[in-house]
Amino acid sequence: MNDKCNALILKQTDYRENDALILAYCENYGLLTFVARGIRKMSSKNAGSLFPFTLSELLFDYTEGKDMFALHSAHMISSYRSLQSNLTKSAAAGVIVELTSIVGREISQDEEERAYLYELLKTVLSEMNQSSDFVLALSLFLSNVLSLLGISPEVDGCAVCGNTKVVAISVEQGGFVCSKCANGKSEDVSLLKQFRLINKARAEHMATLRQFAPYPFAIAEYLYQFLNTYLSVELKSWDFLKEINMLK
Ligand SMILES: [Zn+2]
Repeated sequence: MNDKCNALILKQTDYRENDALILAYCENYGLLTFVARGIRKMSSKNAGSLFPFTLSELLFDYTEGKDMFALHSAHMISSYRSLQSNLTKSAAAGVIVELTSIVGREISQDEEERAYLYELLKTVLSEMNQSSDFVLALSLFLSNVLSLLGISPEVDGCAVCGNTKVVAISVEQGGFVCSKCANGKSEDVSLLKQFRLINKARAEHMATLRQFAPYPFAIAEYLYQFLNTYLSVELKSWDFLKEINMLK
C-alpha cells in the first residue's frame, strides 16, 4: 500500500474530462502508466510535477503484474525545463520517449537492465537539458539501447574480416569496415573515433564523452539506422527531429 518511487515523466495524454494518462519510467518498476484524476483542473496541485521531462516522486499502490495504476500524488524533484521549451531539444527528447516506450517493455523482466535504463534516461535527459547541443545525449542513448538489445555495432575492427584498420561504417555489414570491405565508402577519422567512443560508453562516462564534443548529427543517424535495420523500428519522432534539425 502507498508505494513510493522516483519516476521520469515521459508523456501526458488527455483522458476523460479532467484526467490524464501519464507514461513514466520508474526507478524500481520500469515503464508504467498512471491515471491522474482531476489533473486538468486549474487548481490541481499535482499538475506541475506531471509535465513531461520532470523527475518526480510518485505515490500509488503497486500490484505485481499490472502496468496501469491510479496515482495518489506526485511531488516534483527536478524539472528538465529546456526540454519543454526548446523545440530542437524537445524533438530529440521525443525520440528518447518513443524508443523508451518500446525498449522499456522488451527489457521489463530483467531487474538490472531495468534499473540501468532509469540511470541512462536520467543522465541523457539531464545532459540534454543543460547542454546547448543534443547530439551527444541522444547518441549515447541510442548506442546504449542497441547494447541493451544485444545489437551493438562492431567497433573493434572490420565487421566483415576483422582488419583493425577501418575506414567507414556500414550498417548492412554491422559496424566498422576496412578499405577492402567498404565498397569505396569512407568517413572522417574523427567521426570513426567518436562513433567508437559512443558505442563503448555507458551513462557514467558522460563527463569523458563531453571532452570529445561536438558530435556530428551523422553519428546519431548511423545509430538510428542500426535500430531501424536490426529491430525494424521506425520512429515518427525521428522524422520530426530530422526536419527540425535541417531548419537549424
Ligand atoms: Zn574488412
